[in-house]
Amino acid sequence: MTAPLDVKYDVIVIGAGVVGPAIATALARQGRKVLIVERDWAKPDRIVGELMQPAGVKALRELGMISAINNIEAFDCRGYYIKYFNKNIQIPYPLKEDTARTNPVKPVADCVRDGNDKLQEDSTLSPSEWDEDERVRGVAFHHGDFLQNLRQIVKDEPNVEWVEGNVVKILRDNFDSTIVTGVRVKESVGSKDYHAKLTICCDGIYSKFRKELSSNNVPTIGSYFIGLYMTDCKLPAKHHGHVILGDQAPVIVYQISPTETRILCAYRSLKPPSRANNELYNYLKNEVLPVLPEETKPAFEIALEGGKYRVMPNQYLPARRQGSSQHKGLVMLGDSLNMRHPLTGGGMTVGLNDAVLLAKLLHPAYIADFEEYDEVSRILKQFHRKRKNLDAVINTLSVALYSLFAADKNSLKILQRGCFQYFLLGGSCVTGPIGLLSGMLPFPMLLFNHFFSVAFYAIYCNFKDRGLAGFPIALLEAFAVFFTAVIVFAPYLWLELVA
Ligand SMILES: Cc1cc2nc3c(=O)[nH]c(=O)nc-3n(C[C@H](O)[C@H](O)[C@H](O)COP(=O)(O)OP(=O)(O)OC[C@H]3O[C@@H](n4cnc5c(N)ncnc54)[C@H](O)[C@@H]3O)c2cc1C
Repeated sequence: MTAPLDVKYDVIVIGAGVVGPAIATALARQGRKVLIVERDWAKPDRIVGELMQPAGVKALRELGMISAINNIEAFDCRGYYIKYFNKNIQIPYPLKEDTARTNPVKPVADCVRDGNDKLQEDSTLSPSEWDEDERVRGVAFHHGDFLQNLRQIVKDEPNVEWVEGNVVKILRDNFDSTIVTGVRVKESVGSKDYHAKLTICCDGIYSKFRKELSSNNVPTIGSYFIGLYMTDCKLPAKHHGHVILGDQAPVIVYQISPTETRILCAYRSLKPPSRANNELYNYLKNEVLPVLPEETKPAFEIALEGGKYRVMPNQYLPARRQGSSQHKGLVMLGDSLNMRHPLTGGGMTVGLNDAVLLAKLLHPAYIADFEEYDEVSRILKQFHRKRKNLDAVINTLSVALYSLFAADKNSLKILQRGCFQYFLLGGSCVTGPIGLLSGMLPFPMLLFNHFFSVAFYAIYCNFKDRGLAGFPIALLEAFAVFFTAVIVFAPYLWLELVA
């Protein structure tokens, strides 16, 4: 609300969700004059972005914004607990020594100062415990509280001005429409135009502006999540994300504060579950409740009868290459650029690491003035290339795991069983997959190796289960399983890495 009209900013950032404040803060600390526009600065109440993987925490350190997880009763997360029918396994996050060499913390130049990369002691987080732990940690929290911390950090930057208003139009130059010159903002009283050399669009999951890159730049919806809060819920493994697998679509559970626990129940449909005829209630009561761990059921039943359910679409959108001569001065970042299945809780990790990478590439040491459009274009192409490793791993894994975990046909069920049995082997069959999921081992070839090892192991286990008499069926199933594995994996890896 402090933004005068006649200023030409270096950067306008649209959206103060997770990614907007991160990139705005980083560029401001590097000396750029930044305007950030958010349509509603009040604390949001959403069911998204509540579990941050260790690579997301690492990105916050690199941005000097780790204090965003402090003083919000955040709950640290140390790995996963997977329940598969009546069996279970606990998978800890990677050892620090296994990731420190390949993926060390590398601060963004000019962003880290006065200990802003260090976790502070608060009522729920203990920096000494984090430091002494031999393993990396993630963290879970109320999304709205985390966002308000990020927003306060960006507002506190001297080079940042902020306004509340809805961006209704991306402005282009009157004489050369390939150049983006700023935004039109509908504010409480009338509309105003703001101008900048670079406009970074972080308008999130329902992005209105991603179509600026291309009219067919639209996400696909693969399924839905139904979210509920549980109070004083008991879980089999404290400080672990829980994944509950069985005949039903996967259910994920994580504690987000000392008293509250989020449960997200996947719903296998391209249409949201209807509230009519109690369809949604019946689904939760008859398909989800029975598969939950016994100790979790009472809190779930109370939440269920409380009737407060939220439904969100699970969307997929591969990232477009940016820096085209048709959109000079425009960048998409966060969910407006790229989305994946939320099953693996990777969205904030990808978005924050993108902010880290972009801030490093746009540092004044490499580009003095954002009106050097050719140079910005070159940097954006570099950005597209360099982000691929992490983003291909997290995105492909999320979609492939969802296909396996939501198995609704025989070959997928064999893969799902094989995947759980693969984890039971321990050793690198656990450390590899959790390293990938946590974002700490961002290596697409490692993902490829583990995914197809799971497929072959699933085929092997199926031969064993079928026995000699079932050999012919197992042979037929082997082809179906291999074909299915290729279908659920290869197109996505291709889209992420090559297309
Ligand atoms: C069901 C579900 C669960 C998820 N759970 C997790 C999880 O546990 N962990 C995880 O890492 N990720 C999770 N994600 C993904 C994660 O929420 C996103 O990746 C992340 O929020 C993206 O951040 P963003 O800044 O791009 O967008 P957002 O956080 O959505 O922020 C966009 C901001 O832009 C503002 N805005 C939009 N349009 C305009 C406009 N025209 N003018 C002004 N302001 C505007 C909005 O008000 C909002 O504040 C989940 C997603 C879903 C769907």
